[in-house]
Amino acid sequence: MTSPFDDKLHEECGVFGVFGHDDAPALTALGLHALQHRGQEAAGIVAFDGMQFTAERHVGLVGDIFGGNESHVAKLRGRNSIGHVRYSTTGGSVVRNVQPMFADLTGGGLAIAHNGNLTNARQLRRQLVGEGAIFQSTSDTETIIHLAARSHYEFIVEKLIDALKHVEGAYSLVALTSKKLIGVRDPYGVRPLVLGKLDDAYILSSESCALDIIGADFVRDIGAGEMVVITKDGIESLRPFPPKPKRFCIFEYVYFARPDSSVEGKNVYEVRKCIGAELAHEAPAAADMVIPVPDSGTPAALGFAEASGIPFELGIIRNHYVGRTFIEPSDRIRHLGVKLKHNANRAKLKGKRIVLVDDSIVRGTTSKKIVEMVRDAGATEVHFRIASPPTTHSCFYGVDTPNKEDLLAHRMNLAGMREFINADSLAFISMDGLYRAMGEAKRLSGAPQFCDACFSGDYPVEPTDSKDFRRQLSFLAEVV
Ligand code: SF4
Repeated sequence: MTSPFDDKLHEECGVFGVFGHDDAPALTALGLHALQHRGQEAAGIVAFDGMQFTAERHVGLVGDIFGGNESHVAKLRGRNSIGHVRYSTTGGSVVRNVQPMFADLTGGGLAIAHNGNLTNARQLRRQLVGEGAIFQSTSDTETIIHLAARSHYEFIVEKLIDALKHVEGAYSLVALTSKKLIGVRDPYGVRPLVLGKLDDAYILSSESCALDIIGADFVRDIGAGEMVVITKDGIESLRPFPPKPKRFCIFEYVYFARPDSSVEGKNVYEVRKCIGAELAHEAPAAADMVIPVPDSGTPAALGFAEASGIPFELGIIRNHYVGRTFIEPSDRIRHLGVKLKHNANRAKLKGKRIVLVDDSIVRGTTSKKIVEMVRDAGATEVHFRIASPPTTHSCFYGVDTPNKEDLLAHRMNLAGMREFINADSLAFISMDGLYRAMGEAKRLSGAPQFCDACFSGDYPVEPTDSKDFRRQLSFLAEVV
């Protein structure tokens, strides 16, 4: 769950899979390490050695679990494996919620690792429990396994397709059977999934940066609504679901994905720079320097500086070693708050008018403290520029967002927000400006090219019970 120092949206999961490599479990661990930004609470790997599945699922960071002398990687055997990093919103970090999930079905074993959220999870779960299903976890992924287990189809791929036809919402998942590695994206293609190759081995990953880390070549994005089935004979592409308008999550470009990843044909770093440049055109400011809120505001700040001609400086330094130790600090140090993570570079800021660039404002609490910090360091004017439109709505597709009522932009208009964070001026990139930075002429009304629901409220699929959705999540956390 979000820590008191943490005022960002959080991606909930990352997935990775390897088929046909002698070092599959170790490569999977390396891939998960590269995807650590997508989930820091738990990680797991399931491998298959030709005879049996082995699994290691633990709470903690990938490096602590799968690195070092006591590495759990050594216990995993096989040339095929899948893995998962998790940032939980339901059920805390208990081990039974850690993925990949595994079950023996008629026809063989099935392990699944899933990134995304199912919007009809509650309805399906109630129905399954009513029919006698016994859930071991609070994860949506287990719902998919139960549905597959009950399918009357003969083969596991058909069972999985049958199960996925019942679910709604966002999923990019990897699945492992005794003979196959399977990758699937939901018909809207909300969450990313890419295909790579390392020698003769196939790789599936949430992001391309993880392919780079293991020396694999990027092959292509898995398409929206596509299922790829990888066997020793090669790869087969299936389109088992009715097509839907593609709605890839635009926030992946704004914040979630690593800047060294390319998703859906666009390099994330370049997109962020373009957003910053567009922001400089839309909302210029008379200032002496452009300062990013590190690290996530850095590429947009570079784009803003280049487009405006105002020098770029590192006026805030981030402490990269603030990690889990401080997630629940004692009351005595809690007031230090944001300073544990960010510190003003006084020598640069004193007497200067600054443009401060960040990727987004969620609750606004961190933004307020950062403005206060740079003013205390001697900045004479602070012009805050945000590289996304105001975040006014919660996400139901695999991103941990506060309740709508806690989002600053839901509570206040622009003037109110500027006053709250105490900036001299405040501007967000417009929705059309964001789309221009993505290479689109503008946002198409009624049929937007991306999911931008946290800015627009225009959800690709409404949760079955949207009003109650947050309560549903806490309910599920309580019942197991
Ligand atoms: Fe991404 Fe926002 Fe859509 Fe969620 S609601 S999938 S964070 S764009």
